[in-house]
Amino acid sequence: MSARIIDGNALAAQMRTDFTTRAAAMAQQGITPCLAVILVGSDPASQVYVRNKIAACEKSGIKSLKFEYPQDANPADVLGKIAELNADQSVHGILVQLPLPRQFDADAVLEAIHASKDVDGFHAENVGALAQGRPGFIPCTPNGCMEMLKSAGVQVKGAEAVVIGRSNIVGKPMALLLLQAGATVTVCHSQTRDLAEHLRRADIVVAAVGKPRMVTGDMLKPGAVVVDVGINRLDDGKLCGDVDFASASEVASLITPVPGGVGPMTITMLLANTLQSAERQLKARQA
Ligand code: NDP
Repeated sequence: MSARIIDGNALAAQMRTDFTTRAAAMAQQGITPCLAVILVGSDPASQVYVRNKIAACEKSGIKSLKFEYPQDANPADVLGKIAELNADQSVHGILVQLPLPRQFDADAVLEAIHASKDVDGFHAENVGALAQGRPGFIPCTPNGCMEMLKSAGVQVKGAEAVVIGRSNIVGKPMALLLLQAGATVTVCHSQTRDLAEHLRRADIVVAAVGKPRMVTGDMLKPGAVVVDVGINRLDDGKLCGDVDFASASEVASLITPVPGGVGPMTITMLLANTLQSAERQLKARQA
């Protein structure tokens, strides 16, 4: 079998065209959707992520503000900026790029962002809403994975799904979203005794580990749908996922590539959350 590719770049481009229209419609009504991004330190990967997020905002007609702090920044200064942005009606989303330097309590920083502007979906209020199936901001990466499954017409209801990884950013919210969509979900992690045994039963596999090519074709059920969240940089500078694309695509029915899969969808869902926040403000104003 040769798997069909779920093209994240194509889906992202399609969704972003709609965003541009929505942002323009809101601007006509006096609201310019705006995302504020806070970057602390000089981590090269974080700088690239922030640059890409800001460029994506600009292309979709979403205003962006960038606030940069040095590696030795005082957490009080960053918390002060967050308080200021929380109070600013013209800002609809606030994002603090992770990881933060050691002197920061990352949880406290994320909790300081008002839940109504928490477009990353990491605030406890939004996490709780997701767990209870109530409306709130959904973390961008797992939300992007769900959009990819939807776009490919994957039947999630009733499927056996295995999520590899249990981080707050990807694994846990991914498992909740699949559960809500009607899948029977197993979450595997570093203490899982026999990963391959779980994978062999899975109709849907989401790999979010951070280990290059650890999921190989022989571990998969024939016809499985494979979503590869992992982004790993190899010694030759190339990127690869957590799934061994060559062997997995011989067994799977659908697969997401790395790069060009989940990555572009993560940024797309950030834009979606920012627009959702701005539209909420517009609705409240019209009520
Ligand atoms: P974390 O390091 O926070 O979590 C990794 C998870 O993998 C942990 O739950 C860990 O288990 C589990 N794990 C580690 N080793 C194994 C193993 N041998 N078998 C099974 N599970 C294992 O990573 P993130 O969730 O933040 O990110 C995961 C990957 O996704 C990374 O490559 C990251 O770069 C990428 N990523 C990609 C994004 C995108 O836009 N495409 C966005 C965010 C992340 P335990 O909890 O027991 O330690």
